[in-house]
Amino acid sequence: MRTTPAALHVPELADEPGLVHGFSTVAIGSVGLKHASDRNAVLASRQTFLRVMGLEGLALTAVGSVHGAEVARVDEPVESVDDVDALVTDRPGIVLFATYADCYPIVLWDPEAHVAGLVHAGWRGTQAGVSTAAVNFMRDEYGCRHVRAGIGPGICGRCYEVGPEVAGKFDARFVNPAGHGKWLLDLAAANAAQLEAAGVDAVYEVAMCTKESYLFPSHRRHPDGTRFGAIVALR
Ligand SMILES: [Zn+2]
Repeated sequence: MRTTPAALHVPELADEPGLVHGFSTVAIGSVGLKHASDRNAVLASRQTFLRVMGLEGLALTAVGSVHGAEVARVDEPVESVDDVDALVTDRPGIVLFATYADCYPIVLWDPEAHVAGLVHAGWRGTQAGVSTAAVNFMRDEYGCRHVRAGIGPGICGRCYEVGPEVAGKFDARFVNPAGHGKWLLDLAAANAAQLEAAGVDAVYEVAMCTKESYLFPSHRRHPDGTRFGAIVALR
């Protein structure tokens, strides 16, 4: 009998010395406090996630996730950095954390500068250029020259239906007609294009859809506030 894994990784970034990262699955339970009916259960799930990542005893520093393109550096743990959608650190012991339903977590890692970041990218943040902003921030703030990016689970370009008012904000490369006046938006492709244009060395994708995989909560399958989490930390 197979058991559900507690967390998944970007395979190409899983064995990087110094980098810890992962995405929690339904096996850990919801890690989102915002619409939680049982806060204690969520807090317990967050502790489980830390333990699974080998980071027990450390504090989470949460991305505020306001669907913009602001980025901040983290030099010491704080409960939440509001008004940003990406955090970056060069300090071991800092655990960057964000919660997601259908938006994309993006892991950024420069093995030479030993700097890591975590992005929260939904359609608004993607349209605002949050991935571009995060890579530029790593370059400007930390001198990063060799950033590698891993795009985690999110709603895929076959499942993410949007109206014409949203589709119209994106390059035609990233939208396809869905019929009945709707469009399909490929957020992973839009972010991959931003990352490549920003000059990263590599973009990896786990290519798992939150709407199609049972492993992750999807706002479109379960609009109940359930969230999975992403962690990025340095050893
Ligand atoms: Zn899908």
